[in-house]
Amino acid sequence: MINKTKAIVLKRMDFRETSLICTFLTQDFGKVKGILKGIRADSKKFASSVEPFSVNEIIYYPVKTGELHLVSAAELEENFTNIRNDLNLMNIANYLLDLTDSLLAVEDKNTDIYKLLFKSLDALNNQKDATKVQTIFQIRALFYSGFKPHLDSCVSCSNQLDFQVKFSNAYGGLLCSKCMQKDKQSRSIFRGTIATIMHIEKNNFDTLMNMGLHPQIKKELKIILSNFIEFHLEKRLKTQKVINQIDKRINETVKL
Ligand SMILES: [Zn+2]
Repeated sequence: MINKTKAIVLKRMDFRETSLICTFLTQDFGKVKGILKGIRADSKKFASSVEPFSVNEIIYYPVKTGELHLVSAAELEENFTNIRNDLNLMNIANYLLDLTDSLLAVEDKNTDIYKLLFKSLDALNNQKDATKVQTIFQIRALFYSGFKPHLDSCVSCSNQLDFQVKFSNAYGGLLCSKCMQKDKQSRSIFRGTIATIMHIEKNNFDTLMNMGLHPQIKKELKIILSNFIEFHLEKRLKTQKVINQIDKRINETVKL
């Protein structure tokens, strides 16, 4: 059997002298790992250099045992050149790849995340608000992969939420006033931030790119989401660290 599908490159790694091992997010088969033999020895053998976040049409032979398939063809369809010419956009695109890779298990079909990643890269490439793209991606990727925070009732006692609530990473959502002392690390959160997360979960990408985001909510979302994701993925995503360092440097420059 041969599989043919569109695929976004999540990760690439040199293998031996002449080959590459790539992790792809495919449109039809989920996250797939494959070896491209001889690609580094003969650049014309494949019609793509399979750079991270490029979109390719790939053909591969699924192996029966293990998860490393043999990729026989890769043809470049979209390279997102504008992203590659901008360091900040590159860092955000790499973060989206890293998050996708961490959220998904191999060979677990997820067409929604494929579409979301493609649309997010396309928006970055068209110079849309990069922070907004990142926020929408984080919330919708958590939603599609089953990691979404619990926001519609108290995550601990299931009671309706009262006026005072706190957001808990450990419990994975909102705690009511009676339960909030169960997690000393839980933090207060604006009503508007909760409403924005729920709004982003319910609407499609194009609609969301047109919504306004209050700077204060944008800022709070950034903190809440990166802490939540870090907590649940049990490691700080390397790319998130890079973005934090750049943010810090920008802020320092502004102060000067
Ligand atoms: Zn409760």
